[in-house]
Amino acid sequence: MENTMDKITIKKLEIYANHGVLKEERELGQKFLVTAQMYLDTRKAGSNDTLEDTIDYGKICFRIQRFLTEHTYKLIETAAEELAKELLYTVPRLRALDIEIEKPWAPIGLPLETVSITIHRGWHQSFIALGSNMGDRHAYMKHGVRALNQSKDFRVKSVSSFLETRPYGMKKQDNFLNGCMLVETLLTPEELLEFLQGVEHSVNRVREGKWGPRTLDLDIIFYDNLIMDTANLKIPHMDMHNRDFVLFPLCQIAPNYSHPVLHKTVSMLAEELQGEGTIIKKETVQE
Ligand code: ATP
Ligand code: CA
Ligand code: CA
Repeated sequence: MENTMDKITIKKLEIYANHGVLKEERELGQKFLVTAQMYLDTRKAGSNDTLEDTIDYGKICFRIQRFLTEHTYKLIETAAEELAKELLYTVPRLRALDIEIEKPWAPIGLPLETVSITIHRGWHQSFIALGSNMGDRHAYMKHGVRALNQSKDFRVKSVSSFLETRPYGMKKQDNFLNGCMLVETLLTPEELLEFLQGVEHSVNRVREGKWGPRTLDLDIIFYDNLIMDTANLKIPHMDMHNRDFVLFPLCQIAPNYSHPVLHKTVSMLAEELQGEGTIIKKETVQE
């Protein structure tokens, strides 16, 4: 996505700060050069000539300077990582960025022009399906949404209504509530899965076999346009296109989102569904 986005670049901002593995580096300090490429959409600012609609690069320069002088890290890897997070958490309109930190005076005892690290970090879009069929189902579903909303690494953008559905697969169990949400996240797919499993565990999810009863199930349906197939993680979710309890709530929040493998929109997939449905009530269920 980023290579088609607009970008503002701050090149070789010079900062004197105290990062380094050696004690002397942390005590005496040295020069660092920071290059930040910030990806955003500048169209609105471009057409109305208003600073509020873009990123104020002057302010960002001072933020970078303050951040790198107020903190001390051994590694420029960590300095870059923490700086990227700080900017992505707090700068409106910033979608992604490349940060390069150069260390022209790196004390290695040989002549060199500079050493540097460059990282790319940004917000990703993911659709997450929620399900619950034990205890206070509505409270568990809400807890799932809240757990993501409370983390700085997520922004919950929209949540579907919760549907009452008949169990799928293993049929002899209580009805489910199902829903979907759209989030933005700074996490990688693997980190996202780990986070979701942590939330499941926090509500005492007990594993009673595949498709068995559960307090809360959180599945990754899509992650940007990513296609991945590893032992632990398959994206898009392998069976989502066969499930009305996933497609219907997804349709409420993203009918035109295109499945990166099947190349059909969510609403087309919902229309093409065959067989017996699971949906009992389509409206939000409160209990
Ligand atoms: P289903 O995935 O068919 O809905 P389930 O949700 O009941 O079944 P779980 O027992 O919750 O299955 O998860 C089993 C494993 O599925 C997880 O440990 C995880 O590693 C793996 N997995 C693979 N792809 C995904 C994905 N897209 N989202 C969540 N888990 C996934
Ligand atoms: Ca599931
Ligand atoms: Ca699951």
